[in-house]
Amino acid sequence: MQLPEEVVALQQMVRDFVNKEVIPKAADYEKRGEYPKELDMMAFDMGLPVLCLPTKYGGGGMSELALTVVMEELARGDLGFANYVSASTLATLPILIAGTEEQTKRWTERLLETKYAAFALTEPEAGSDAAGAKTTATKDGNDYIINGRKCFITNGSHAGEYLVMASVDRSKGIKGLTCFIVERDRPGISIGKEEDKMGIRNSNTADVIFDNVRIPAANRVGEEGKGFGIIMKTLDASRPSVGAHGVGVAQRALEEAIKYAKQRVQFGKPIAAIPAVQIMVADMAIKIETARQMIYHACDLYDKGLPHTIESCIAKTVGAEAGWEAVDLALQIHGGYGYMREYPIEKLYRDVRIVKIYEGTNQVQRGIIGGQLLR
Ligand SMILES: Cc1cc2nc3c(=O)[nH]c(=O)nc-3n(C[C@H](O)[C@H](O)[C@H](O)COP(=O)(O)OP(=O)(O)OC[C@H]3O[C@@H](n4cnc5c(N)ncnc54)[C@H](O)[C@@H]3O)c2cc1C
Repeated sequence: MQLPEEVVALQQMVRDFVNKEVIPKAADYEKRGEYPKELDMMAFDMGLPVLCLPTKYGGGGMSELALTVVMEELARGDLGFANYVSASTLATLPILIAGTEEQTKRWTERLLETKYAAFALTEPEAGSDAAGAKTTATKDGNDYIINGRKCFITNGSHAGEYLVMASVDRSKGIKGLTCFIVERDRPGISIGKEEDKMGIRNSNTADVIFDNVRIPAANRVGEEGKGFGIIMKTLDASRPSVGAHGVGVAQRALEEAIKYAKQRVQFGKPIAAIPAVQIMVADMAIKIETARQMIYHACDLYDKGLPHTIESCIAKTVGAEAGWEAVDLALQIHGGYGYMREYPIEKLYRDVRIVKIYEGTNQVQRGIIGGQLLR
């Protein structure tokens, strides 16, 4: 699929930014153990976390395709940093799907002011089984009181607002689940453990604890009991861009592998001249381009308002797998040097592994695809 001209222009702008600011700095931030707030602020100034919002609210009014192309470019620079934009976008999607005008306006104003948002679905005992969420929202007059603990929340420590899934009635199971906007400055919110991760160390991942947090009923997104459906639609919309996380990292690994293969001399010539190395490069390109085209296809269906659940799940799965397999090949091309921290491949290898896990593991994606086909 050929990208529209305006998407190519946006892609080029983000690629230039990534080449100039992200690639030269990201690994150093990781080594220093310092969160790359500077990079987040540059992305914020470019309007990237609000690209998905309509222009009337101050957003970018961009298509799913444009958003996903941007995600690939950011992930090519640094997947941890890319998650800053991803998480804010993911938290915004339920508002766009089921929120009112007033909620969308309020959410956007706050996002523009605080610069970070987070999507709070996962709990210690409810990961793949998101419907098993134990967080509760108890009605009290015109308010709800939120109690529970969310874990593994990207941007969790930094967010100015959270999109939270909680149950208004646990006896109703999935039919009790409901979405809420919870602003960070409400009394009773605290940040728990900040995760010490294997990869994407330039991303903040934290527990967020809600202890008798009172919010007005006006913060409920959609009807009571419709939360699970809203979350499923949200994930359908965001999965292609998570596939693009894998492709972005893989693209960077391909570029690094080509550069290395042209420089590294063995048997009196660059290893780029060795057919076995050429085949590894070709395999990387095959995996990357087939995944990228599938991701574009899923976005195209979404943008045209056509059914896209299966394609979104395929896009996430093939993007994650292309990422993992391509980075592994790039490491192999680097030989022993690929295993050393001195070369960028080692970080890409640690970073890309997460893509097969978050936003629904690849096993869960296969479960959805199989379930849909066998309905
Ligand atoms: C770095 C990071 C960032 C994250 N960011 C966020 C965030 O911003 N917001 C948020 O809400 N969550 C976030 N998550 C949570 C993430 O989406 C979950 O980790 C993921 O959905 C898997 O849940 P789990 O870790 O509890 O694994 P489990 O659900 O316990 O799964 C364990 C294993 O069992 C398999 N399994 C479980 N159920 C099934 C099934 N039905 N069919 C087939 N296999 C199955 C899984 O594939 C996996 O291999 C993040 C996680 C990480 C690690």
